[in-house]
Formats: sequence, C-alpha cells, structure tokens
Amino acid sequence: MTSEQGPSPRPYRVAVIGSGPSGLYTAEALLAGDAGVHVDVFDRLPAPYGLVRYGVAPDHLKMKSVIRALVSTFDDTARVRFLGNVHVGTAAPGTVALPPEVLREHYHAVVHATGSAVDRDLGIEGEDLAGSVGSGAFVSWYCGHPDAAAADPALDGAGAVVVGAGNVAIDVARVLSRPAADLAATDLHDTVLDRLHASGVTDVHVLVRRGPQHVRFTPPELRALAALDDVEVRVHDDGLLAAGVPEPPERRMRQVLQTLTAWAADPPGAGARRRIHLRFLRSPQRLLPDGDGRVRAVRVVRNEITPDGGVRPTGETAELAAGLVVRAIGYTGEPVPGLPFDAASGTVPHEHGRVVLGGEPVRGSYVTGWIKRGPTGVIGTNKADGAETAASVLADLPRLGTPPRPGGDAVLDRMRDLGLEPVLWDDWLRLDAAERALGERRGGTERVKIAERAAMLDAARGRSTTSR
Ligand code: NAP
Repeated sequence: MTSEQGPSPRPYRVAVIGSGPSGLYTAEALLAGDAGVHVDVFDRLPAPYGLVRYGVAPDHLKMKSVIRALVSTFDDTARVRFLGNVHVGTAAPGTVALPPEVLREHYHAVVHATGSAVDRDLGIEGEDLAGSVGSGAFVSWYCGHPDAAAADPALDGAGAVVVGAGNVAIDVARVLSRPAADLAATDLHDTVLDRLHASGVTDVHVLVRRGPQHVRFTPPELRALAALDDVEVRVHDDGLLAAGVPEPPERRMRQVLQTLTAWAADPPGAGARRRIHLRFLRSPQRLLPDGDGRVRAVRVVRNEITPDGGVRPTGETAELAAGLVVRAIGYTGEPVPGLPFDAASGTVPHEHGRVVLGGEPVRGSYVTGWIKRGPTGVIGTNKADGAETAASVLADLPRLGTPPRPGGDAVLDRMRDLGLEPVLWDDWLRLDAAERALGERRGGTERVKIAERAAMLDAARGRSTTSR
C-alpha cells in the first residue's frame, strides 16, 4: 500500500485518532517538532477534548480550564484540522464508520489516542440488575456524553453505594451528595441538573476493599469532601486509624492518612442533611434485587488484610440499602481494529509509542495515552506521554514511505463518499457558541452542555433544533 522507496516528500501527514488530552498533547508535540508535519485530529464525537469534557467532573472547573491550553493546538489552521463525528473503526449496525485501512492510504502515520473506556466488572451476583452501573456510564451521564443522553440512573432511593477508592469514586460520591444548587454554576446539562435536584439520595457509601493506607485518592480530592455544603463525611474504619496504621513512605499517602485520621475523630459537616460514608475493609458480595429486578440493597462483607497487602473476606456480612450501585474500580481498553492487543492490561503493546507485534514495530502505527499505558495518571501525565510518542513518529516519518493517496480535501471527499459528514473546527465553534449561549441563559456559568448527538450536530451546522 505504501511505497518503500526513498524518503517521503513533505508535508508529512499524521492522523491522530481521539481528541482527548492524550491525542491533543501528541498533536501539539508533532506540530511543534517539525514545521513540515500536518495533523488531522479525528474524533467519533462532534465535540473535541475527550475526557476533559466527558470525564472531568463538572465542578472541577480548574481542571477543565486545561481546555484553554488544548485549544491552541488548533491555532495553526494551515497545518491542523479537527474532523469530529467520524468513527474510525468498525461500524455498528445502522451507522457509518471510517475503515482504518482508509487512513493508511492517506497518511504517513496514524496515532491511536482512543483511551480505555470500558468499565471493569466486579464479577458478583446481581451486578446486572437495574440500578447497577459502571462509573464510566455514570460519569458519562452526568457529563452529558451523547452515548448516555438517554440514561436514567436510579436516584430515588436514600442509599447509594460507590465501590472503589480512586479519584473517580470520590468524584461520583461528591456529585451524588453535594447540593444540586451548587452545581448550577457548572456546564451540567439541564436534565442532569433537574435529576440531581430531585434526587432522594441522602447516604452515599464508599466501599473500600482494603485499609486507609491503601487508597488511591489524591489528597486535594479527598480534602475537598470536607468543604461540601451540607454534607457530613463519616469514616468507618473499625478503629484502624486510632490504633495507628504503618507510616507509608509516600508523602501523598501520609497526607491522606492525616486527613482520614482527623475525620475519624471529628467528622466534618456533622449533622448535615447528606452523608458520605467511607467504609474501609468492605467489599460488595452480592447485589440484592427488589421484586422488579432492581437493586434494593448490597450485601457487604468485611475483609481482613493479608500479610502480602491483599484482602480476604472474613465471612462477616451486613446489608446496606441502596437503589444505585456505581462500581468505580477502574477501566480497561478495547481492542483497536487491526492492532495487537494485550487483554490482561487492556493496552496496545508498544515501544516508546511505536505499536509492536512479535517484537517488531508495526510500520506507521503509534499509540498514546490510556490505550498505551493503561488508565492511570492525571491529565498532565499525557503531556510527557504524548511527547514521547510524537518523538517516535517524528524520528520515523522520513522513512515511512509515501501514502498512495493525497491528504487535505481528498480525505474529506473520501469520507463524504463513504457517507460521513465530519464536524470541522468552524462547526465545533458554532456548537461551542450555542453551549455558551445556553450558559448565559442559565446565568452564572460559562456553558451548558448539549448532550444529544442530533442536537449537537444541529448546533454545529447552524440549524435550529427542538431537542437538547
Ligand atoms: P484507580 O485510581 O485505579 O482506583 C481504582 C480503585 O478500585 C482502587 O481503589 C482499587 O482498589 C479499587 N478496586 C479495583 N478492583 C476492585 C474490586 N474488585 N473490588 C473493590 N475495589 C476494587 O482508578 P480510577 O478511580 O478509575 O481513576 C483512574 C485514573 O484517573 C487515576 O489515575 C485517577 O487518579 C485519575 N483521576 C483523577 C481525577 C482527579 O485528579 N481529580 C479524577 C478522576 C480520575 P485496590 O487498590 O485494592 O486495587
């Protein structure tokens, strides 16, 4: 498909699939690294920014402000394009997708930055009941992701259970418990805001399978729970903290332990209308149904720590009433069509971002972000990660051969021939302006997200819409 002869003529054309932070940091490094590189950034959604838009909690405004830096990736309009609303991969029934091999005909190199979006399972009985969801699905709902626009999470019961001790568990617990009025100044879609206003949840139980010394919360995220209006934070640790847990070497963990120890003795927000319960050494054993196939309670087992830092169940169980169970136990990746995949880690095998198969690099194929290193790190982690992948691409470009078909408008024509209607940067700016106008209408907020795909496309094309 590509010629092996001689160095490729410039400009080099690189396709980046995924416009989240990993894709955009990589695009930025590619553009900065060589003036002879042109980049097309694809996204299956009509809006850019991936997890910054659809993963960062709505009330983390400072974290969302990273968009102000990411947007500059698109400044050099002669060298970079946004091609949203284009799913690269295998088409689901009734949809159109861009086959990956088409990209290989037009681009010297393809960088996959598609993340790891699949919720992990607990593998326990009752997990499939209505009311039981993965954090990815739940976060997508409150972040106004078009795939979750029709979701209807069970917020009518007083109890909710969140499983896991990472920052996602904290985000979910915070969004479920903080007064909805405080969220009005965020980009939350109106329907989500209304549902949170009407929520009956008063007690959010965070189940941590190991001890306070094993959590993955970061100190600022944990401490922020104490600042929530009308929310009490109760630590249920079976007296572990008062008895003293071994001093961890990591500063972050010492800070977390200090916070938890203080809260165990003196719960912040005592007497508030809603409560977050941090329950250590507890695992869900089974989700129990009501008569309609919905979750009504969680049977929880107490664990004990094994000498190697793992846990084993003690056999002592209790029931927690809950209509909603969110498992925030991490994510895994999906195989990328045409690329090797390591199912155990949920990542694509690589060396410095170069995809490898049987120890050999797959020519012209690269990975960056969570699909490269797994679902770890903060947004900024993607900058160094993207720089590494970009450096590999830039080093390889002169010997990757010339693609048989041209780039630029030929790529757009090819997509339109296949029935795809890409959302270009100017289209996104129209959608962006429509969301900002909604924000102005609500008052006191920069934007209100449009969640339904059809309404997003209407706004992007400048068509009036009745749906949101
Ligand atoms: P995470 O940090 O990897 O935490 C996953 C948690 O799930 C761990 O506490 C783990 O416990 C627990 N877990 C795994 N399997 C379990 C099981 N079968 N039963 C019970 N618990 C189980 O993952 P995450 O919270 O999804 O976050 C992903 C990444 O995004 C992290 O790097 C995180 O810091 C980042 N993030 C950052 C922010 C922020 O900066 N504000 C917000 C959201 C996400 P064990 O330790 O016992 O395995």
